Amino acid sequence: MAEQVLKTVIIGSGPAGYTAAIYAARAGLQPVLYTGAEPGGQLMITTDVDNYPGFPGGIMGPEMMEEFRKQAERFGTEVRYEMISRVDFTGPVHKIYTESGTEIQAHTVIISTGASAKWLGLDSEKRLANKGVSACAVCDGFFYRGMEVAVVGAGDTAAEEASYLAKLCPKVHLLVRRDEMRASKIMQERVLKMSNIEVHWNTETVEILGDESVDGVRVRNRESGDEKVLPVKGFFVAIGHKPNTDMFKNWLDMDETGYGSSTRYVQNANSRGVCQWRCAG
Ligand code: NDP
Repeated sequence: MAEQVLKTVIIGSGPAGYTAAIYAARAGLQPVLYTGAEPGGQLMITTDVDNYPGFPGGIMGPEMMEEFRKQAERFGTEVRYEMISRVDFTGPVHKIYTESGTEIQAHTVIISTGASAKWLGLDSEKRLANKGVSACAVCDGFFYRGMEVAVVGAGDTAAEEASYLAKLCPKVHLLVRRDEMRASKIMQERVLKMSNIEVHWNTETVEILGDESVDGVRVRNRESGDEKVLPVKGFFVAIGHKPNTDMFKNWLDMDETGYGSSTRYVQNANSRGVCQWRCAG
């Protein structure tokens, strides 16, 4: 038996979810926010946030999310520490279901489900996941202190992960598939300045070696075709993220990568009372 129809449900507890909650609560929309499996979202696994206005000395990701939560609760947001696993947007009243099967009904659903790390798709990567292969240096870097590691990727995430690991590890190999990095200039400079980060340009990962733990990575130079093995014990994948929108596939228009155009979302919001609140893409 569903509880009374809620005015506003927010799915997701990253910066977008809490921002939506602060505004919705102040507008009298009585938001109930479902945190999902990782309360606080990806900022919970970030260290210093240096580029958010209002924090001249920077702030740690988890501390920032704690402040977001308190601010949302201050205006009456109810935070529920549960995962939403299914939605049904057929009727004028939207239905969402928690992982334990409870049905929630709401007039408005705000989707702020964030994104998850992408993987290279290699068999060896799957086999060694959590056995030396990771998508989060801040979470797992500690285990590779004093060891040689590799990071694959060339965006801000890869730059950040490599810089973080360079403080723990004697040598970090950064595997960049093109002859330039996508990361912002300031992050690139940080990486290039660190003497224990070696950037391998035009380089792709062929295979991660090892059975029960990582024991090297075979890489190939895309220009010459030459292959070599780097003697790493940890392999960090930092090649971007995929939006967590799979459960909305049958209900909202989106492209093949899982993003929807803002125009279409506005149309959806207008016609069906469903909108997506997101900050990138
Ligand atoms: P991006 O999409 O920006 O970068 C992904 C990188 O991974 C690209 O350089 C891409 O290469 C590379 N890549 C993708 N697929 C493969 C593959 N199969 N093999 C090898 N390399 C691959 O993702 P990020 O997560 O880095 O950043 C996402 C957003 O978050 C950006 O807007 C970024 O600025 C922001 N961000 C900001 C931070 C900060 O300001 N502190 C920290 C982290 C992220 P290619 O360039 O060749 O396509």
